Amino acid sequence: MQYIDPHIHMVSRTTDDYERMARMGCVAVSEPAFWAGFDRGSVDGFRDYFRQLTEFEPKRAGWSGLAHFTWLCINAKEAENVELSREVIKMIPEFIDRTGVLGIGEIGLNKNTKNEATIFSEHLELASKIDELILIHTPHLQDKYKGTRMIIDMLKEHSELDPGTVCVDHVEEHTVGLARKNGFWCGMTLYPTTKCTPARAADIIERWGDDRIMVNSAGDWGPSNPLAVPEFIQEMKKRGHSDAKIKKVVYDNPLEFFSQCKRFKFK
Ligand SMILES: [Zn+2]
Repeated sequence: MQYIDPHIHMVSRTTDDYERMARMGCVAVSEPAFWAGFDRGSVDGFRDYFRQLTEFEPKRAGWSGLAHFTWLCINAKEAENVELSREVIKMIPEFIDRTGVLGIGEIGLNKNTKNEATIFSEHLELASKIDELILIHTPHLQDKYKGTRMIIDMLKEHSELDPGTVCVDHVEEHTVGLARKNGFWCGMTLYPTTKCTPARAADIIERWGDDRIMVNSAGDWGPSNPLAVPEFIQEMKKRGHSDAKIKKVVYDNPLEFFSQCKRFKFK
């Protein structure tokens, strides 16, 4: 079955991973800007990263026949450095109109600190001003519920933002309702250790339905599986769900969400 991985950090993966994903049916990936495993020292570090995301990575994806899309921001972890964050935010408009850029992301919270909240809010202001889609990272484990609440409250303060243009990612059983009830899109991340397993993601779809929801591998430099979406497809098949229903979650939904971006072109 053809699928899209709507959240995967391919700069941390190998060309062999692209090839294996293509063989499993992946036709497109979307890559949010994220923390590289170390804090970057200057705005020029981010400029080079944005060039990698918009120039080289689409080329490398193309070697395996995949389309590559991307999102720009400074992630929540490095947002602790407010001065650097503001310089990065100021630079985003230089890159936003490049081919394949879908919007601002993944922004959000990590440890739910004041500085993170300040920079999250400044990203929202930029997205609202230049009318861009938003992809949101919600915190891990014990910080998730509180952080997701804070994020939703801040989004609601920006009443000009259409919830249909925002995806709240890494939702789990205890946070999916917060995003869904407020009209936002949701992403479920299939991780080998934390976040969701394919079975838990399938349970969530069975409980909450298949509208405005997607699954992703969030493959990165840590323990993660770039082929997690095919595992979810397999789990849904085993449970007897129709191909049309599975395709809605792994292909139609990401396409519908991305299609709201004015630059989005696919096939
Ligand atoms: Zn991510």
